[in-house]
Amino acid sequence: MTMEEVFKKLRSLQEILSQKFEIEREMEEIPKILATRTELLNRMKKSYLEKTQEYETKSRYIDELRNKAIEAERVREGFEKQMDMIQTQREYEALDKEIKDSGEKEQDLRRDLQREEQMLIEMKVNLEKDESMSSKQEEEVQKEQSRIKEAVQAKGKGLKTLEKKEKSITPGLDEEILFKFERIIKSKAGLGIVPIEHGVCSGCHMILTVQFVNDVHRGEGIMFCPNCSRILFYQPEDLEEQGEEEEESGEDSGEEDEESETDEAEDDD
Ligand SMILES: [Zn+2]
Repeated sequence: MTMEEVFKKLRSLQEILSQKFEIEREMEEIPKILATRTELLNRMKKSYLEKTQEYETKSRYIDELRNKAIEAERVREGFEKQMDMIQTQREYEALDKEIKDSGEKEQDLRRDLQREEQMLIEMKVNLEKDESMSSKQEEEVQKEQSRIKEAVQAKGKGLKTLEKKEKSITPGLDEEILFKFERIIKSKAGLGIVPIEHGVCSGCHMILTVQFVNDVHRGEGIMFCPNCSRILFYQPEDLEEQGEEEEESGEDSGEEDEESETDEAEDDD
């Protein structure tokens, strides 16, 4: 295989790999959206459960209040019946006080009861609101789950197609070069092989030494940019215009943080 053919293969491979990595990234993101929704749903369910318990406690308290009010009423009526049997003024005054006291107690209890019952009605309304929100959310999560299942299947198919294409290209290419190449494409937004343009790496715009450009020109082996680690190939000056157009689709990655690219380049060895 000539260097020309190797570069051609690498460029086809670059297109496939960048699509493949993009799909893989998307597939990683998919479950995260669902996780957020599921978490929200669980929080809603928990809050609903807590409010239900509060509602039940309030209901029990109201039952107790009602029984106390009924009991107070019975006591007051008991005193009132005794009025018929009163003989002395002193007895009358004592009984009259009992009737007043028990009547006041009864009224207090009934006021409390009314207030608590009003609160219970409001709690019930809120609970019903929460319940309908929670079931809507549950429905959303289920819809999302089936959407995700479909999306994952579709992306999985796309991935398989790309992997087939990848396998048809890789035979004959050096495995170590392939490994490095994949890593560069993954970290450099899809651009792993770029031409030298006017003595500059068109990936990161670093000025290359004349010696280095000559080595690439001789084409005796794969050369990596010492700054961004991309594979460099030589193209004659009169082809550069055309070459620039070809590479334009992925060109935007070229201006990124060069400091970190240097670090990554050193790591590669
Ligand atoms: Zn570079």
